Amino acid sequence: MSEKKLSRRSFIKKGTMGVAATAIAPAILAATPAVAAKGKNMFCYQCEQTAMGKGCTYTGVCGKTPEVAALQDLLIYTLKGLSLTAVSGKKVGVNDKNVNRFTCEALFSTLTNVEFDPNRIEDLIHETVQYRTAMIKKVKAAGGTIDMKNPAVTFKPKSSISGLVKQGKKHGLMDDASKNKDIRSLQHTLLFGLKGLAAYANHASEFGQEDDAVYEYVHRALASLLDYSLGMKYLNLVLECGEKNLKAMELLDAGNTTRFGHPIPTSVPRGYKKGKAILVSGHDLIDLEAVLKQSEGKGIFVYTHGEMLACHGYPKLKKKYPHLYGHYGSAWQYQKKEFAQFPGSILMTTNCIQKPKRLYKKNIYTTGTVGWPGVKHLENKNYKEVVDKALDLPGFPEDVKKNDVMVGFARNTVLGVADKVIAGVKNKDIRHFFLIGGCDGVKKKRGYYLDFAKQVPKDCVIMTLACGKHRLIDTNFGDIGGIPRLLDVGQCNDAHSAVQIAVELSKAFKVSVNELPLSFILSWYEQKAVAILLSLLHLGIKDIRLGPSLPAFITPNVLKVLVDNYNIMPITTPEKDIKAILG
Ligand code: SF4
Repeated sequence: MSEKKLSRRSFIKKGTMGVAATAIAPAILAATPAVAAKGKNMFCYQCEQTAMGKGCTYTGVCGKTPEVAALQDLLIYTLKGLSLTAVSGKKVGVNDKNVNRFTCEALFSTLTNVEFDPNRIEDLIHETVQYRTAMIKKVKAAGGTIDMKNPAVTFKPKSSISGLVKQGKKHGLMDDASKNKDIRSLQHTLLFGLKGLAAYANHASEFGQEDDAVYEYVHRALASLLDYSLGMKYLNLVLECGEKNLKAMELLDAGNTTRFGHPIPTSVPRGYKKGKAILVSGHDLIDLEAVLKQSEGKGIFVYTHGEMLACHGYPKLKKKYPHLYGHYGSAWQYQKKEFAQFPGSILMTTNCIQKPKRLYKKNIYTTGTVGWPGVKHLENKNYKEVVDKALDLPGFPEDVKKNDVMVGFARNTVLGVADKVIAGVKNKDIRHFFLIGGCDGVKKKRGYYLDFAKQVPKDCVIMTLACGKHRLIDTNFGDIGGIPRLLDVGQCNDAHSAVQIAVELSKAFKVSVNELPLSFILSWYEQKAVAILLSLLHLGIKDIRLGPSLPAFITPNVLKVLVDNYNIMPITTPEKDIKAILG
C-alpha cells in the first residue's frame, strides 16, 4: 500500500476490516523514507496544536523555545541511555527505585505545557547522567554487562546550557529515529505515549503507589528507541504502553481514593467570597491538600482552576477544609485572561502552564514538574510564600454569586446506582451513553463537543472526563428519572474511573464493552491523552471518534492499522456522528 493510496481522507472511510495488526508490517516497512526536518530552529509535533498541523519548527505554539526544545530532546536521549542501563540491571537483579521514579519525573517534564525553564532541564540532564554512571557501577558489580559501545550509555553532557543546546540539536525527534517514516511514526507514538504513562506513574508514586512492572516497561520501551532494527515490533510496545498506562492510572486512582475518599456528588460554587484568595491549577491533589493545610485559619479562601475542579468531589478535601470554596475560571487555555483578573496568589501544579503575563507573573508559583523561567519554583510542598502572597494581595472585595456546577460522578458514585442505571436502560428510559472525554484547547473546531452534547437526544446520558467538560458545564442538561444527564467522572487523571464504569456495566449487562450502548467521543491535546487512547485500544474498545484533528505523528499506514483493528475514526459533524451512532 503506497502512502498516496491511503490519504488522511481515506481515514474517514472505514479501512479494510479484519487485518491483524502485524499483517500491515510489510506495507509499513516498504514505505518511502521521509526527509527529516533539517535546517529548522526546532522540530516538535507531539501535541494537537502543533503548527500547521505538521510541526513547530520556528518556535513552539505552546511557548517552547528552540533552546528548550533542544534541551528536552537531549534529556530524552540521556534518559534512553539511563534506561538501557536499567534494562541491563534488571537481568542481574538490580532495580533502583530512585532511578525508576526519576525517569518518570524527567519524562513528565517534557510533556506539553510542563517545563519551560532551561536551567531546570539542564539539571535533569546532569542528574540523568549521574544516575546512569551509578547504575553502570551497580550492574557491573552484580555481574551484569552493559553495551558500552552504545553512545547513549557513554554520552558526556557539556557543562553549559549553550553546549547542551548544541548537543541537543543533534538528537532531535527526526534525528534519533528510523528513516522509515512509518517505523518512525510508531517510535514517536511510543515515545509520546510513554510520556503520558510516565506522568500518571509520577502522580501515583507521590501517593506511594508504584508497580515495578510499570517501571520495567518504561525502561524497556525507552531503551528500545535506541534500537531501530525493531521495526514492526514497536507496534507491540505501543499497545503494551496502553496496558501499562492502565495500570499506572489504576495506581493513581487507588492513591487518590485511599487518601481523599471516593468522590461524591458535590455542588461547586463558581462565584467568589469576599476575602483573600489562592488559586490552585494543574492536576495535583496532594499539592492542593498542602495549600489547604498551610492556609487554614488565615482568612483565605482557596479556589480551584482548570482540571482541579474535580477535587471538590473528594470528601477529605472539600469536607475537611471548608475554606476550599469554589471553582474560578474555566479550562487551561483561558488562564492568561483569568489569572490576570484573579486578585490573589496562584499555584500551578503539574501540566498546563502557559507563558505568564507580566500582570500576574509576580503572583504565580510553580511546583513539581512544572516550571517557567522567572517564576518562583517551590519545593517540598512548602507553600508559605503562596499563602503570604495571598495575604499581601487584595483578594475579592465582595461576595459574587454565579451558577454552581456538579462534580463527583466517579466510578463509586455511578456504580452505586448501577441498579437504577441498568433498569433505566432495560426499560428504555436511557437509550445510550456518550463519554465526551479529553482535553480542551484553543481550536475553533473544538466547538464540536458542545454542539454534539447539545444535540444528544434527551433519553441519552453524557459522561464527561477531563478539561473538555468546561465547554459543557454552563448548559443545563436536565435528568432522566433523577439521574443527571451530565455526569462528570473527573480529571483526565481519572480515566481509569471511566474505564471501570464501562467494564462493570458490561459485566452487569453480560456483554462486551463494545456491545454496551456506549460511545466514546474523544478530544486529544497532549501526551496524557495519547496514553489514555492507547489504554482504550489495549482494552479492545472500538469505534472511538477522535478530534479535533488527527495526530501529526501518525502516518497513513499506521493510521490504517488503527482503523482496521479498532475502527477508530475522526469526528465529522455532531449531526452525522449522532445519526451514525444512534441510527
Ligand atoms: S508541545 Fe506542541 S505546541 Fe509545543 S512545540 Fe511541541 S508540538 Fe509545538
